[in-house]
Amino acid sequence: MAAYNIYSMKILVTIIFLSFATFSFGQAEQSNTIVINVTADYKPAIIELIKNHTEISSFPTLGEKIKYKGLDTGYYTFQISGHGKTKIVSDSIYVMNGQLLELHVTVTGPCLYDHPADQIPICPNEHTDNIIPIVYGLIGQTRDSASTVNKVHLGGCVVTDCDPKYYCTKHKVEF
Ligand SMILES: [Zn+2]
Repeated sequence: MAAYNIYSMKILVTIIFLSFATFSFGQAEQSNTIVINVTADYKPAIIELIKNHTEISSFPTLGEKIKYKGLDTGYYTFQISGHGKTKIVSDSIYVMNGQLLELHVTVTGPCLYDHPADQIPICPNEHTDNIIPIVYGLIGQTRDSASTVNKVHLGGCVVTDCDPKYYCTKHKVEF
C-alpha cells in the first residue's frame, strides 16, 4: 500500500511539472516501440539524444517523426532547445537493445529566425555592426570573388521555410 502511494505522488508531481513546461513528454510503450511525444512552441527545435552524458545525435527539425534504431540497452534522455530558448530535458527513457525509439515532434510556434522587414538585424549578443546576410543555394562564379565572400555568408543548398537570415562575423553566429 505504501508503495502505491509513492507511485501516485510521483504521477501527480509529473503532471504538475508538465503543465508549466514548454514541452510535454509522454511515454507510451507499445510492443517493441517506445514512442515519445514532444511539442515545441517555436521552430526549428534542436533535438539531442543523450546517453551517459554523451551526445548520440543532434539536429534541427521543423516537426517530424524521428526513428532511432539499433540503440544499446540503457537510459536515454532527449534535450530540446531552440535559438535563444532554455534547454528542456526529458525524463530518462529505458531502451532495451532491439527496441525502436520513436520521437514524434510537433512544432506549433513561429520561426525563431523571422525578422521584421523594417527592423535592423541585431546579433544575439546585441549589436548591429559586423552583420551580413546569409545567401542560400549555389552562388556560382561569384563564390570565388573575395568581395562577395566578405559581404554574404554562404548558408548551403538545403533550404527550409525557417532558416537563419543573418550572420554575425564577430561572434560567428547565424540568426
Ligand atoms: Zn555578434
